[in-house]
Amino acid sequence: MPFELPELAFDYTALEPHIDAQTMEIHHTKHHQGYITKLNAVIEKYPELDGRSIEDLLEHLSDLPLDDVDKTALRNNGGGHANHSLFWSIIGPEKKVQDDLVEKITEEFGSLDNFKEQFATAAATQFGSGWAWLVSDKNGALQVYATPNQDSPLMQGHKPLLGLDVWEHAYYLKYQNRRPEYIEAWWNVLTVL
Ligand code: MN
Repeated sequence: MPFELPELAFDYTALEPHIDAQTMEIHHTKHHQGYITKLNAVIEKYPELDGRSIEDLLEHLSDLPLDDVDKTALRNNGGGHANHSLFWSIIGPEKKVQDDLVEKITEEFGSLDNFKEQFATAAATQFGSGWAWLVSDKNGALQVYATPNQDSPLMQGHKPLLGLDVWEHAYYLKYQNRRPEYIEAWWNVLTVL
């Protein structure tokens, strides 16, 4: 069963003016679909991996019986699929605040504003393409950090709770080189906080 592009729960125009419709459409139908197509091409070569979830594959990446080229392709494209699937699921036109998450963040970071500042700094200072994350680590504690490329926190046994795509393809049409403005705008479309 090959991996498929998840449908969005909202229209491409729904995040305007914070994220423009053209960026959303290209990001979803071209970039995310591109990762899935390349991910499926790897899985096709290893029938024994068929049917395993993307989370399972990334968590066990280092143990998988793939040659180096295919493992890198799985890391990049499987990460791309998992990361974008999470990304679409936590943004939208309407708030659906998760009170338990807000409470845990407040407990561990002192305040929601403190957390947002740390997260925005991680996102703004990631050199080149990558992601900023809020994760639950192996002890269940929250951590904020960034990863390069499409690397997923799942690869180090962390559960990603929030992820912000800071690849230029996520913001360049509207914000050009102004990544901090995109990060600031993103809080408006994040539904869960
Ligand atoms: Mn992206």
